[in-house]
Amino acid sequence: MARASEVLIVGAGPTGLAAALFLAERGHRARVVEQATEPSPYSKAFGVNARSLKLLESTGVTDRFLANGGRMRHLTLHRHGKALARLHVDGVDANYPFLCVQSQAESERLLAEAVLARGVTIERGVRATGVAIRDGRAHVQLEGPDGQEVADAGTVLAADGSSSTLRKALGIRFDGKAYPEPWRLWDVELEVPLDPDQGHIFLLDRGGIGPARRERLAGSRLGAGSAGIASQG
Ligand SMILES: Cc1cc2nc3c(=O)[nH]c(=O)nc-3n(C[C@H](O)[C@H](O)[C@H](O)COP(=O)(O)OP(=O)(O)OC[C@H]3O[C@@H](n4cnc5c(N)ncnc54)[C@H](O)[C@@H]3O)c2cc1C
Repeated sequence: MARASEVLIVGAGPTGLAAALFLAERGHRARVVEQATEPSPYSKAFGVNARSLKLLESTGVTDRFLANGGRMRHLTLHRHGKALARLHVDGVDANYPFLCVQSQAESERLLAEAVLARGVTIERGVRATGVAIRDGRAHVQLEGPDGQEVADAGTVLAADGSSSTLRKALGIRFDGKAYPEPWRLWDVELEVPLDPDQGHIFLLDRGGIGPARRERLAGSRLGAGSAGIASQG
C-alpha cells in the first residue's frame, strides 16, 4: 500500500540525518528509511570539518560534537622515518581552528539523537530498490520487515551513499572521480610514540598510511589510541 509523505529520505548516514534535522528545524517532518538494521560501529569519516560544524551550529549538534570529539590542528607528513612537512588546518576557520575527530558512528549517533528528539523516526531495515516519477511525485519501491511497499513522496532525497541505488534508477550521472586503487580503513588499537593530537601520514613507495587518533584509551603511556587508518595501495 502506498504511504504518502512530503519528503522521503533514503539513507540515514550523515547526509540523510543532517537533511532530516534541517527539515525538522524548518517544520517539515521527513520520513527516513535506512537499509541497515543497526548503526555501523566503524569510523569511516572521522574528521568533521569547520564548515560542517558551522552549518550544524543552530541545531545544537555542533556543541555535542565538540564535547565528544578530539581536535586535530596539524597533519605531519613522514617519509623514511623523517618528518617532512607539517600541514596546518588551524588557519581554515577562526571559529573552529581544527578538524573535529570522532568516528562516523559517533557523528551518526549524535545526529540521530537530535533527529529523534524532534519527533522524526528512523525506519531501519527498510531498503529502497527503485523509484519512478509520475505526475510530479516520486514512487519509491521499499522492502522492509513488513514486506514490500511503494512509498509516495512529493520529494525524495537520495542520501543512499556513493553507490546510490536511487541515483542509478533515475539515470543521474556520478560526476566524481574514483581512485583506481582501493582505500582501506581500519579501527585498531595502537601504542605509538606519535603526538596523538596530530594527524600523521606516512608516505610509502606504494601509497601511504595515515593514522589518526579517534578516541583516548585509559591508561595509555605513549599516546595510544584507537586509530582510523586509511591506506592506499
Ligand atoms: C576511507 C575514507 C575516509 C573518509 N574520511 C572522511 C573524513 O575524514 N571526513 C569526511 O568528511 N568525509 C570522509 N569520507 C567521506 C565520507 O565517508 C562520506 O562523505 C560520507 O559517508 C557521506 O555520507 P552519506 O550519508 O552521504 O553516505 P553514507 O555514509 O554512505 O550513508 C549512506 C546510508 O544510506 C544507506 N543506504 C544505502 N543504500 C540504501 C538503500 N538502497 N536503501 C536504504 N538505505 C540505503 C546506507 O546503509 C548508509 O547508512 C571518507 C571516506 C572514505 C572512503
